Amino acid sequence: MIKKNSGTKVAIIGAGFVGTTFAYSLLIRSLVSEIVLVDSDKDRAEGEAMDLSYGLPFLEPVDVRAGDYSDCEDSDIVVVTAGSARKSGQSRLELAKENFTLMREVISKITEYNEKCILLMVTNPLDVMTYTALKLSDFSKTKVIGSGTVLDTARLRFLLGEYLQVDSRNVHSYIIGEHGDSEVPVWSLANVAGIRLKEYCPLCSMPYDKGAFDDIFVKVRDAGKEIIRRKGRTNYSIGLSLTKIVESIVRNENSILTVSCYLENYHGVDDVCLSVPAIVNRDGIKKIIDLPLDEKEEEAFRKSADAVKEINKSLGI
Ligand code: NAD
Repeated sequence: MIKKNSGTKVAIIGAGFVGTTFAYSLLIRSLVSEIVLVDSDKDRAEGEAMDLSYGLPFLEPVDVRAGDYSDCEDSDIVVVTAGSARKSGQSRLELAKENFTLMREVISKITEYNEKCILLMVTNPLDVMTYTALKLSDFSKTKVIGSGTVLDTARLRFLLGEYLQVDSRNVHSYIIGEHGDSEVPVWSLANVAGIRLKEYCPLCSMPYDKGAFDDIFVKVRDAGKEIIRRKGRTNYSIGLSLTKIVESIVRNENSILTVSCYLENYHGVDDVCLSVPAIVNRDGIKKIIDLPLDEKEEEAFRKSADAVKEINKSLGI
Protein backbone atom coordinates (compact mmCIF):
# COMPACT_ATOMS: atom_id res chain seq x y z
CA MET A 1 0.00 0.00 0.00
CA ILE A 2 1.36 3.41 -0.98
CA LYS A 3 1.38 5.69 2.06
CA LYS A 4 0.96 9.39 1.74
CA ASN A 5 -0.12 12.51 3.60
CA SER A 6 1.27 12.95 7.06
CA GLY A 7 1.27 9.23 7.89
CA THR A 8 -1.58 9.80 10.31
CA LYS A 9 -3.63 6.80 11.39
CA VAL A 10 -7.19 7.21 12.62
CA ALA A 11 -9.16 4.40 14.25
CA ILE A 12 -12.92 4.86 14.26
CA ILE A 13 -14.71 2.82 16.92
CA GLY A 14 -18.27 2.35 15.68
CA ALA A 15 -18.82 1.96 11.95
CA GLY A 16 -22.43 3.10 12.05
CA PHE A 17 -23.92 6.12 10.31
CA VAL A 18 -21.79 8.71 12.10
CA GLY A 19 -18.53 6.74 11.97
CA THR A 20 -18.78 5.92 8.27
CA THR A 21 -19.97 9.35 7.17
CA PHE A 22 -17.00 10.78 9.01
CA ALA A 23 -14.70 8.21 7.34
CA TYR A 24 -16.08 9.20 3.92
CA SER A 25 -15.51 12.88 4.58
CA LEU A 26 -12.00 12.21 5.91
CA LEU A 27 -11.21 10.18 2.80
CA ILE A 28 -12.34 12.90 0.43
CA ARG A 29 -10.28 15.52 2.27
CA SER A 30 -7.12 13.34 2.07
CA LEU A 31 -6.18 14.32 5.59
CA VAL A 32 -4.80 11.01 6.83
CA SER A 33 -3.03 7.96 5.45
CA GLU A 34 -4.86 5.20 7.28
CA ILE A 35 -8.46 4.79 8.42
CA VAL A 36 -9.46 1.69 10.39
CA LEU A 37 -13.09 0.91 11.12
CA VAL A 38 -13.71 -1.06 14.31
CA ASP A 39 -17.18 -2.32 15.09
CA SER A 40 -18.63 -5.11 17.21
CA ASP A 41 -20.47 -6.05 13.99
CA LYS A 42 -17.40 -7.13 12.01
CA ASP A 43 -19.34 -7.74 8.82
CA ARG A 44 -20.65 -4.21 8.90
CA ALA A 45 -17.17 -2.75 9.38
CA GLU A 46 -15.81 -4.92 6.56
CA GLY A 47 -18.64 -4.02 4.21
CA GLU A 48 -18.23 -0.32 4.91
CA ALA A 49 -14.44 -0.50 4.43
CA MET A 50 -14.90 -2.32 1.12
CA ASP A 51 -17.47 0.19 -0.08
CA LEU A 52 -15.21 3.12 0.86
CA SER A 53 -12.04 1.66 -0.62
CA TYR A 54 -13.59 0.89 -4.02
CA GLY A 55 -13.85 4.66 -4.52
CA LEU A 56 -10.11 5.16 -4.03
CA PRO A 57 -9.25 5.29 -7.75
CA PHE A 58 -10.95 8.69 -7.70
CA LEU A 59 -9.06 9.91 -4.63
CA GLU A 60 -5.58 10.18 -3.20
CA PRO A 61 -4.23 6.92 -1.71
CA VAL A 62 -5.46 6.11 1.78
CA ASP A 63 -5.44 2.72 3.45
CA VAL A 64 -9.04 2.02 4.51
CA ARG A 65 -9.89 -1.25 6.20
CA ALA A 66 -11.80 -2.96 8.96
CA GLY A 67 -9.76 -3.79 12.04
CA ASP A 68 -10.02 -4.41 15.74
CA TYR A 69 -9.12 -2.68 18.97
CA SER A 70 -5.44 -3.63 18.61
CA ASP A 71 -5.38 -1.06 15.77
CA CYS A 72 -5.58 1.64 18.44
CA GLU A 73 -1.97 0.82 19.40
CA ASP A 74 -0.32 2.92 16.68
CA SER A 75 -3.26 5.23 15.98
CA ASP A 76 -2.69 8.96 16.32
CA ILE A 77 -6.37 9.64 16.83
CA VAL A 78 -9.08 7.29 18.08
CA VAL A 79 -12.62 8.46 17.42
CA VAL A 80 -15.44 6.91 19.44
CA THR A 81 -18.82 6.84 17.70
CA ALA A 82 -20.00 3.48 19.08
CA GLY A 83 -23.30 3.47 20.89
CA SER A 84 -26.96 4.25 20.69
CA ALA A 85 -28.66 7.50 19.88
CA ARG A 86 -31.58 8.68 22.01
CA LYS A 87 -34.81 6.90 21.11
CA SER A 88 -38.15 8.66 21.29
CA GLY A 89 -39.45 8.60 24.86
CA GLN A 90 -36.01 7.78 26.25
CA SER A 91 -34.68 10.22 28.84
CA ARG A 92 -31.16 11.61 28.68
CA LEU A 93 -30.34 9.71 31.85
CA GLU A 94 -31.56 6.42 30.37
CA LEU A 95 -29.38 6.97 27.29
CA ALA A 96 -26.47 7.94 29.52
CA LYS A 97 -26.83 4.69 31.49
CA GLU A 98 -27.00 2.62 28.31
CA ASN A 99 -23.96 4.21 26.69
CA PHE A 100 -22.03 4.40 29.97
CA THR A 101 -22.15 0.60 30.21
CA LEU A 102 -20.91 0.38 26.63
CA MET A 103 -18.22 3.02 27.22
CA ARG A 104 -16.74 1.05 30.12
CA GLU A 105 -16.05 -1.74 27.64
CA VAL A 106 -14.93 0.52 24.77
CA ILE A 107 -12.58 2.69 26.85
CA SER A 108 -11.01 -0.29 28.59
CA LYS A 109 -10.35 -1.92 25.20
CA ILE A 110 -8.79 1.28 23.82
CA THR A 111 -6.61 1.88 26.88
CA GLU A 112 -5.34 -1.69 26.69
CA TYR A 113 -3.45 -0.51 23.58
CA ASN A 114 -3.01 3.27 23.79
CA GLU A 115 -3.41 6.12 26.23
CA LYS A 116 -1.17 8.60 24.45
CA CYS A 117 -3.17 9.23 21.29
CA ILE A 118 -5.89 11.84 20.96
CA LEU A 119 -9.26 10.45 21.94
CA LEU A 120 -12.14 12.15 20.17
CA MET A 121 -15.50 11.36 21.72
CA VAL A 122 -18.74 11.56 19.74
CA THR A 123 -21.18 9.19 21.44
CA ASN A 124 -24.10 10.86 23.23
CA PRO A 125 -24.78 12.24 25.74
CA LEU A 126 -21.55 13.76 24.55
CA ASP A 127 -20.32 15.70 27.57
CA VAL A 128 -21.09 12.83 29.93
CA MET A 129 -19.29 10.35 27.65
CA THR A 130 -16.25 12.65 27.33
CA TYR A 131 -16.05 12.91 31.13
CA THR A 132 -16.53 9.14 31.40
CA ALA A 133 -13.62 8.54 29.02
CA LEU A 134 -11.38 10.77 31.14
CA LYS A 135 -12.41 9.23 34.43
CA LEU A 136 -12.07 5.64 33.22
CA SER A 137 -8.59 6.13 31.77
CA ASP A 138 -5.20 7.70 32.38
CA PHE A 139 -5.45 9.91 29.30
CA SER A 140 -4.19 13.42 29.87
CA LYS A 141 -7.06 15.91 30.00
CA THR A 142 -5.67 17.78 27.00
CA LYS A 143 -5.90 14.63 24.85
CA VAL A 144 -9.56 13.83 25.46
CA ILE A 145 -11.73 15.95 23.22
CA GLY A 146 -15.49 15.82 22.82
CA SER A 147 -16.98 16.89 19.50
CA GLY A 148 -19.10 19.11 21.72
CA THR A 149 -20.90 22.06 20.22
CA VAL A 150 -18.71 22.30 17.11
CA LEU A 151 -21.81 21.03 15.28
CA ASP A 152 -24.25 23.31 17.14
CA THR A 153 -21.98 26.30 16.49
CA ALA A 154 -21.92 25.42 12.77
CA ARG A 155 -25.73 25.23 12.77
CA LEU A 156 -25.91 28.65 14.40
CA ARG A 157 -23.48 30.18 11.91
CA PHE A 158 -25.36 28.64 8.99
CA LEU A 159 -28.76 29.92 10.12
CA LEU A 160 -27.40 33.36 11.00
CA GLY A 161 -25.68 33.53 7.61
CA GLU A 162 -28.98 32.74 5.91
CA TYR A 163 -30.85 35.31 7.98
CA LEU A 164 -28.26 38.05 7.49
CA GLN A 165 -27.64 37.10 3.85
CA VAL A 166 -23.92 36.71 4.37
CA ASP A 167 -21.51 33.79 3.93
CA SER A 168 -21.76 31.70 7.13
CA ARG A 169 -17.95 31.51 7.20
CA ASN A 170 -17.98 35.24 7.96
CA VAL A 171 -20.38 34.83 10.88
CA HIS A 172 -18.65 34.36 14.22
CA SER A 173 -20.74 33.18 17.10
CA TYR A 174 -20.54 30.36 19.60
CA ILE A 175 -22.77 27.85 21.25
CA ILE A 176 -21.21 26.79 24.55
CA GLY A 177 -22.13 24.47 27.41
CA GLU A 178 -23.80 21.11 26.99
CA HIS A 179 -24.21 19.54 23.54
CA GLY A 180 -27.93 19.26 24.26
CA ASP A 181 -30.96 21.01 25.67
CA SER A 182 -29.15 23.35 28.09
CA GLU A 183 -26.64 24.70 25.55
CA VAL A 184 -26.05 28.45 25.53
CA PRO A 185 -25.76 30.90 22.63
CA VAL A 186 -23.21 33.65 23.26
CA TRP A 187 -25.12 36.50 21.61
CA SER A 188 -23.10 39.19 23.34
CA LEU A 189 -20.05 38.28 21.23
CA ALA A 190 -21.74 37.27 17.95
CA ASN A 191 -20.35 39.30 15.10
CA VAL A 192 -20.01 39.69 11.35
CA ALA A 193 -16.86 41.33 9.99
CA GLY A 194 -15.83 42.02 13.58
CA ILE A 195 -19.01 44.08 14.12
CA ARG A 196 -21.38 42.92 16.88
CA LEU A 197 -24.88 42.01 15.67
CA LYS A 198 -26.50 45.01 17.36
CA GLU A 199 -24.38 47.34 15.21
CA TYR A 200 -24.17 45.10 12.14
CA CYS A 201 -27.95 44.82 11.59
CA PRO A 202 -28.57 48.58 11.19
CA LEU A 203 -25.59 48.76 8.80
CA CYS A 204 -27.52 46.35 6.58
CA SER A 205 -30.79 48.28 7.04
CA MET A 206 -32.17 45.50 9.24
CA PRO A 207 -33.62 45.92 12.72
CA TYR A 208 -31.83 44.08 15.52
CA ASP A 209 -34.70 41.66 16.00
CA LYS A 210 -34.12 39.78 19.26
CA GLY A 211 -37.18 37.59 18.61
CA ALA A 212 -35.72 36.44 15.29
CA PHE A 213 -32.40 35.56 16.95
CA ASP A 214 -34.20 33.69 19.72
CA ASP A 215 -36.08 31.68 17.06
CA ILE A 216 -32.78 30.89 15.36
CA PHE A 217 -31.36 29.58 18.63
CA VAL A 218 -34.40 27.34 19.19
CA LYS A 219 -33.86 25.93 15.68
CA VAL A 220 -30.21 25.27 16.48
CA ARG A 221 -30.96 23.66 19.84
CA ASP A 222 -33.69 21.43 18.38
CA ALA A 223 -31.97 20.72 15.04
CA GLY A 224 -30.88 17.21 16.02
CA LYS A 225 -34.39 16.23 17.15
CA GLU A 226 -35.98 17.71 14.02
CA ILE A 227 -33.58 15.91 11.69
CA ILE A 228 -34.00 12.62 13.57
CA ARG A 229 -37.82 12.99 13.40
CA ARG A 230 -37.56 13.26 9.61
CA LYS A 231 -34.76 10.85 8.68
CA GLY A 232 -34.02 8.85 11.81
CA ARG A 233 -30.47 10.07 12.45
CA THR A 234 -27.96 12.87 11.93
CA ASN A 235 -24.75 12.03 10.14
CA TYR A 236 -23.56 14.51 7.48
CA SER A 237 -22.93 17.68 9.46
CA ILE A 238 -21.48 15.74 12.40
CA GLY A 239 -19.20 13.95 9.90
CA LEU A 240 -17.97 17.32 8.65
CA SER A 241 -17.59 18.69 12.19
CA LEU A 242 -15.38 15.72 13.10
CA THR A 243 -13.36 16.21 9.94
CA LYS A 244 -12.72 19.84 10.92
CA ILE A 245 -11.55 18.79 14.39
CA VAL A 246 -9.24 16.15 12.90
CA GLU A 247 -7.95 18.64 10.34
CA SER A 248 -6.98 21.02 13.11
CA ILE A 249 -5.11 18.20 14.88
CA VAL A 250 -3.39 16.74 11.82
CA ARG A 251 -2.39 20.08 10.33
CA ASN A 252 -1.51 21.54 13.72
CA GLU A 253 -3.79 24.44 12.84
CA ASN A 254 -4.44 25.94 16.26
CA SER A 255 -8.07 26.39 15.18
CA ILE A 256 -10.49 27.68 17.75
CA LEU A 257 -13.31 25.16 18.09
CA THR A 258 -16.07 24.72 20.64
CA VAL A 259 -15.02 21.24 21.69
CA SER A 260 -16.02 19.62 24.95
CA CYS A 261 -13.07 19.82 27.33
CA TYR A 262 -12.37 19.20 30.97
CA LEU A 263 -12.99 22.45 32.83
CA GLU A 264 -11.39 23.67 36.01
CA ASN A 265 -12.77 26.87 37.44
CA TYR A 266 -14.12 28.24 34.18
CA HIS A 267 -16.58 30.99 35.13
CA GLY A 268 -17.07 29.13 38.41
CA VAL A 269 -17.57 25.78 36.69
CA ASP A 270 -15.36 22.91 37.82
CA ASP A 271 -14.78 19.20 37.22
CA VAL A 272 -17.02 18.65 34.21
CA CYS A 273 -16.58 18.34 30.45
CA LEU A 274 -18.41 21.05 28.52
CA SER A 275 -17.91 22.98 25.33
CA VAL A 276 -16.13 26.31 25.27
CA PRO A 277 -13.89 27.70 22.54
CA ALA A 278 -10.48 26.05 22.70
CA ILE A 279 -7.35 26.11 20.57
CA VAL A 280 -6.95 22.64 19.04
CA ASN A 281 -3.70 21.39 17.53
CA ARG A 282 -1.57 18.24 17.19
CA ASP A 283 -1.26 17.99 20.97
CA GLY A 284 -5.02 18.13 21.50
CA ILE A 285 -6.45 20.98 23.53
CA LYS A 286 -3.70 23.59 23.64
CA LYS A 287 -5.61 26.32 25.42
CA ILE A 288 -9.12 26.98 26.67
CA ILE A 289 -10.31 30.48 25.81
CA ASP A 290 -11.81 32.46 28.65
CA LEU A 291 -14.82 34.16 27.04
CA PRO A 292 -16.01 37.47 28.48
CA LEU A 293 -19.61 36.26 28.99
CA ASP A 294 -22.36 38.64 30.10
CA GLU A 295 -24.22 37.93 33.34
CA LYS A 296 -27.12 36.03 31.77
CA GLU A 297 -24.82 33.89 29.63
CA GLU A 298 -22.69 33.05 32.64
CA GLU A 299 -25.75 32.04 34.62
CA ALA A 300 -27.06 29.87 31.75
CA PHE A 301 -23.60 28.31 31.36
CA ARG A 302 -23.52 27.37 35.05
CA LYS A 303 -27.00 25.85 34.79
CA SER A 304 -25.84 23.84 31.80
CA ALA A 305 -22.89 22.57 33.85
CA ASP A 306 -25.27 21.60 36.67
CA ALA A 307 -27.45 19.61 34.23
CA VAL A 308 -24.45 17.62 32.98
CA LYS A 309 -22.97 17.17 36.47
CA GLU A 310 -26.26 15.77 37.71
CA ILE A 311 -26.08 13.00 35.12
CA ASN A 312 -22.40 12.35 35.92
CA LYS A 313 -23.38 12.03 39.57
CA SER A 314 -26.24 9.63 38.82
CA LEU A 315 -23.77 7.44 36.97
CA GLY A 316 -21.42 7.51 39.96
CA ILE A 317 -18.51 9.09 38.07
P1 NAD B 1 -25.36 3.60 14.66
O1 NAD B 1 -26.28 2.71 15.40
O2 NAD B 1 -25.55 3.77 13.20
O3 NAD B 1 -23.85 3.12 14.91
C1 NAD B 1 -23.36 2.72 16.14
C2 NAD B 1 -22.37 1.60 15.87
O4 NAD B 1 -21.69 1.26 17.09
C3 NAD B 1 -23.03 0.30 15.35
O5 NAD B 1 -22.45 -0.05 14.10
C4 NAD B 1 -22.70 -0.71 16.44
O6 NAD B 1 -22.51 -2.02 15.92
C5 NAD B 1 -21.41 -0.12 17.01
N1 NAD B 1 -21.05 -0.66 18.33
C6 NAD B 1 -21.85 -0.94 19.36
N2 NAD B 1 -21.10 -1.43 20.38
C7 NAD B 1 -19.82 -1.43 19.98
C8 NAD B 1 -18.58 -1.80 20.57
N3 NAD B 1 -18.52 -2.28 21.82
N4 NAD B 1 -17.43 -1.66 19.86
C9 NAD B 1 -17.46 -1.20 18.60
N5 NAD B 1 -18.62 -0.83 17.98
C10 NAD B 1 -19.77 -0.94 18.67
O7 NAD B 1 -25.43 5.03 15.41
P2 NAD B 1 -24.92 6.43 14.82
O8 NAD B 1 -26.06 7.11 14.16
O9 NAD B 1 -23.65 6.22 14.11
O10 NAD B 1 -24.65 7.22 16.19
C11 NAD B 1 -23.59 6.82 17.05
C12 NAD B 1 -23.52 7.72 18.28
O11 NAD B 1 -23.17 9.06 17.88
C13 NAD B 1 -24.85 7.86 19.05
O12 NAD B 1 -24.59 7.89 20.45
C14 NAD B 1 -25.38 9.21 18.59
O13 NAD B 1 -26.27 9.80 19.51
C15 NAD B 1 -24.06 9.97 18.51
N6 NAD B 1 -24.10 11.23 17.75
C16 NAD B 1 -23.41 12.25 18.28
C17 NAD B 1 -23.40 13.47 17.65
C18 NAD B 1 -22.63 14.61 18.26
O14 NAD B 1 -22.76 15.76 17.82
N7 NAD B 1 -21.82 14.35 19.26
C19 NAD B 1 -24.10 13.63 16.44
C20 NAD B 1 -24.78 12.54 15.91
C21 NAD B 1 -24.79 11.33 16.59
